[in-house]
Amino acid sequence: MSRIAYVAGQYLPHRLAAVHIEDRGYQFADGVYEVIAVVDGHLVDKERHLTRLRRSLAELRIARPMPDSALTIVIREVVRRNGVDTGIVYLQVTRGAAPREHAFPKAGKPTLVVTSRRTRPPDPKLGQEGIAVITIPDIRWQRCDIKSVALVANVLGKQQAKEAGAYEAWQVDRDGRITEGTSTNAWIVTADNTVVTRAADTAILNGVTRAAVFEILDRAGYRLVERPFTVAEAKAAREAFLTSTTADLLPVVRIDGAPVGEGRPGRLSQELRAAYFAHAAAAP
Ligand code: PLP
Repeated sequence: MSRIAYVAGQYLPHRLAAVHIEDRGYQFADGVYEVIAVVDGHLVDKERHLTRLRRSLAELRIARPMPDSALTIVIREVVRRNGVDTGIVYLQVTRGAAPREHAFPKAGKPTLVVTSRRTRPPDPKLGQEGIAVITIPDIRWQRCDIKSVALVANVLGKQQAKEAGAYEAWQVDRDGRITEGTSTNAWIVTADNTVVTRAADTAILNGVTRAAVFEILDRAGYRLVERPFTVAEAKAAREAFLTSTTADLLPVVRIDGAPVGEGRPGRLSQELRAAYFAHAAAAP
């Protein structure tokens, strides 16, 4: 089956799908995106993703390309045309094509691209054995709450993690506190079983998976505190884990080479991971 993309109003085979060379997404990273998981043909947490997309667009003063009801039809159609049962949908909206000039163009309309692809089931070893992270300085801009396509700092960080044999890089602010991973949110569990993650300020992306885990914690009666934590605190934590749409929830067992807790996935991380899978599988 050849892959089909939705580009500026048309469903096209990938090899024919293209945007203008003066698209502002290409020239200025002047755009935003979302990644939605597809599980058994269902869109996981679609409403939360569309709400965050609306917010990102509003923060950058980019017009919405279409109402959510129409966007949902396009998303479902792209999933259907690509035969995706389990995988992801990628949505990107830029300020559109215009002669290159930093200030907003007077006319012009946003460019919407929607793609979808099947993904292999995540390697079960990652969940069973846990993953390693390294820590790196957070060199990103001060509006990481906007899901901007300007990801070059994240790209460099992820590559650094890969070259170090780690799954992810946890970025550290100027005060020595972890902000988040390059494509994931960061969490620890303290000695008294309190779950800690940074509050959704402008230094992190307010993850959709993060919000789903909040609900799980609330239902199960666990204590959650939203506050920053340092690298030293993370290394001394009982457990650590990360979350994202594509990584789900993965236990972190090593930070900068040092074991977290006993160097094995913790009980609470495993429980939350199972609960998150149940949440994703129950998507309407
Ligand atoms: N933080 C960053 C920087 C991300 O890029 C992502 C996802 O791409 C996340 C956190 C996790 O967000 P979500 O759970 O919505 O996938």
